[in-house]
Amino acid sequence: MTSPITPVLTANWGTDRSWTLDAYTAQGGYQALATALTKTPDEVVAAVKDSGLRGRGGAGFPTGMKWGFLPPYDDNDPQSRYLVVNADESEPGTCKDIPLMMASPHTLVEGVIISSYAIRAKQAFIYVRGEVLHVIRRLRAAVAEAYAAGHLGPDSPAGVDLIVHAGAGAYICGEETALLDSLEGRRGQPRLRPPFPAVAGLYARPTVINNVESIASVPAIIGKGADWFAGLGTEKSKGFVIYSLSGHVTRPGQYEAPLGITLRELLDLAGGVRHGHQLKFWTPGGSSTPLLTDAHLDVPLDYEGVGAAGSMLGTRALQIFDETTCVVRAVLRWSEFYKHESCGKCTPCREGTWWLVQVLTRLEAGNGSEADLDQLLDQCENIAGRSFCALGDGATSPVVSSVQLFREEYLAHLEHGGCPFDAAASTAWA
Ligand code: NAD
Ligand code: SF4
Repeated sequence: MTSPITPVLTANWGTDRSWTLDAYTAQGGYQALATALTKTPDEVVAAVKDSGLRGRGGAGFPTGMKWGFLPPYDDNDPQSRYLVVNADESEPGTCKDIPLMMASPHTLVEGVIISSYAIRAKQAFIYVRGEVLHVIRRLRAAVAEAYAAGHLGPDSPAGVDLIVHAGAGAYICGEETALLDSLEGRRGQPRLRPPFPAVAGLYARPTVINNVESIASVPAIIGKGADWFAGLGTEKSKGFVIYSLSGHVTRPGQYEAPLGITLRELLDLAGGVRHGHQLKFWTPGGSSTPLLTDAHLDVPLDYEGVGAAGSMLGTRALQIFDETTCVVRAVLRWSEFYKHESCGKCTPCREGTWWLVQVLTRLEAGNGSEADLDQLLDQCENIAGRSFCALGDGATSPVVSSVQLFREEYLAHLEHGGCPFDAAASTAWA
């Protein structure tokens, strides 16, 4: 892990037994909680609003504003609201929350306590992706330490209880309302919004759901001040984030840096594209965001910059692909993922993702026709904007952008009667 620019969340990842309460406390951990408890809950909410923190799960919705959507607190109903942390990190290429929870689970626990105090929630949950048993164990150990130290529990200063809940392994349960259904013990499928969770969430009570990295950023905001946080990043995308670099890059890993850094700068830190190769295409936020190319190396990696380039910042999962990659095969792999993970609730996504895989399989094998490209775009048009949740829209992003950017490569498959890449290159992704 490298974090040469703004080591905040990642600052102590390399220290001895960084995940323990002792190590965390020795590095100043839980001092932000003490500071928060000297303020009123409304003052803590105001600090988060002033910091400009935007949701780190992908959508970038202002965190303080989301907290502000909760209805007024009712003194006669102490269980009236919940905080839920979305730790169901599953977007392809996204690997920031899992290393954060492994290296510094107490940063998240402290963030949960401060955030619960701010929104006046007495019960909080961390919903973790079920496959990551090592993370679940580590979080539960950290929560047990925090209870023993008196930071958690009904008699603790903030009076917050925290449960770590393991999901059963479905990408859709990262969608906030599907997550709530799953947490309630039902099959995880998205709910109609509105009402948004802030109004009617877990057990139909007002609920704040935030991503791990968002909540883990709160102690730094309270400890160092909203102005300090707002001074990092760009005018509309404030603060620092963790970028996950993967694929054909010399030193893949997590790089913490302010919003607005460019891929060119991040690649410099990561040793560049692997030796002897050139960048062909990349994803700014996992496979649910339109592809970008080497023409976009200097796009500021913030919500506005990536948006202006025709894509989305999303989860900041920067997957790097060099010239040996068959874009058709890469897009087929992602489409198979969406077909598998579609929850089946709505027809455009359930049927559409199946059809995308059929047509892409045909094209990748060189058995299709040029009309299949129009067919693909038509299918995407019937999925995007017509599906019940963001999974359907996301499934179309790599397909549409790859046809727009690499139409010739699709046609080359038809001309060659199969993948035109030589065996060595094409097996790099087999
Ligand atoms: P969204 O823009 O619909 O909502 C973002 C957040 O703002 C939600 O919490 C929502 O409740 C809240 N919100 C929005 N409008 C509101 C309103 N009027 N009142 C109250 N609250 C409001 O985005 P989404 O569908 O929740 O999430 C899509 C994002 O998820 C994508 O950008 C993608 O990058 C990301 N994603 C992340 C992962 C991962 O592993 N981290 C996986 C898949 C997708
Ligand atoms: Fe389920 Fe896909 Fe419809 Fe979302 S878009 S509700 S994942 S079928």
